[in-house]
Amino acid sequence: PFQWHRVDYADVQRKQTLLQKELRRLRGVKAHFTDIRFSILEDFIGKGDRSLGQMIERAWRAGAGMDAWWENIDAAYAAWVRAYCGEEVDPAADPVALCAHLPIRELGLEDPLPWDHIDTGIDKKWLQKDYRRALEALTVEDCSFEGCSACGICGPGFGHNIVIPPPPVPPLQSKPTPTQDPLEPEPPAQRFRITYGKTGDLRWLGHLDLMRLWERACRRAGLPLAFSGGYHPMPRLANANALPIGQEGYGEILDLELLDRPEGPLTPEKLRALLSEQLPPEIPIQAVQEISLRDPSATAAVYAAEYQLTVSCELPKAVHGSGTESSWPAWVTQILDAQEIWIEKTSKSGKSSPFNARALLYYLEFQGLTPEGSACLLYRGSCRNDGAYLRPTHLVQMAESLGLPHWTLQTAKRLRLLWEHDSSQ
Ligand code: SF4
Repeated sequence: PFQWHRVDYADVQRKQTLLQKELRRLRGVKAHFTDIRFSILEDFIGKGDRSLGQMIERAWRAGAGMDAWWENIDAAYAAWVRAYCGEEVDPAADPVALCAHLPIRELGLEDPLPWDHIDTGIDKKWLQKDYRRALEALTVEDCSFEGCSACGICGPGFGHNIVIPPPPVPPLQSKPTPTQDPLEPEPPAQRFRITYGKTGDLRWLGHLDLMRLWERACRRAGLPLAFSGGYHPMPRLANANALPIGQEGYGEILDLELLDRPEGPLTPEKLRALLSEQLPPEIPIQAVQEISLRDPSATAAVYAAEYQLTVSCELPKAVHGSGTESSWPAWVTQILDAQEIWIEKTSKSGKSSPFNARALLYYLEFQGLTPEGSACLLYRGSCRNDGAYLRPTHLVQMAESLGLPHWTLQTAKRLRLLWEHDSSQ
């Protein structure tokens, strides 16, 4: 309902100044505030309609980019202001006063919204009513327990709202007690290495949420997880090499450490059965191995990753008649025959540096064409924690560096991670 509501920047700025002034007096308190210019940019871009496209290009040409990075905000904000207001407005002026010059739209309840075509299932009329109710400080009952306010979600297509009571959660057995010395946590008794998949819709789960999912599954399975020491003890769960959001993985690795159990040590089979019962089907466990407490961590042990990619390639019209099927094996050979292939990689801070990607490629194979005509490629490349990591996009860059026709990466699946001392490889 608050999609129609305008941010009152003057009020936000007043509150921030007030809090900063008051908090400055307190010793040992550190406070962070969102720079109001980030909020202004978000508001302005978020409410933009199709005319915003040209505006984004103008801002980009004026130097905008990486706008959400703290260290870039001065340059990015100045570029946006210059792109929209021209040279006569000083980007260093008070941002709230500058808002008057920026095209931040006031949205009326009846105005078409740029995102009206996205159907969330909730009736727009219901949202308008809810907005008015909110401005009058009226609350809407929680329809899980009170009456239905007919928001439009429930129906034959989506089903009906029912409340399922949560299953009982076993008490947490292993977190250090407040009286225990935090610098000397109880030592782990067993360590397991779990190979699992991250598939289907759960490929959209971020790394931290995935770790929470594992933590909850262990809790529900009644496993006595070991905790790290220090004043902020964390469960001893470690995932090797986090997958990017949206990518499926079929052989991910997780290390898990358990405390001594009064019932005796767990077998890998029992651990697998206990955890599988609690995990969603999109996180299937492939294998569980007990490893020594002294073995290197999963992150340190992983040295390579095997990927399956689908890649398309549009040949120029002149050679289109020949199709690409016959070209893929030759392109693969060309990559494998090269002694060195130098490409650029960009760090999180935007710095580019060249590296020899060929040295990180251990295996490459063309496996055939998909029904849509894309090539299936299988590759194994370095996947080390020290940054020597050959990503699927790097393979496309390698083809470009050799002057091959342009490849477009369609999908990437990480089939498995390879780690030292794994006897099953
Ligand atoms: S019960 Fe369904 S239709 Fe009614 S308010 Fe709740 S979600 Fe909306």
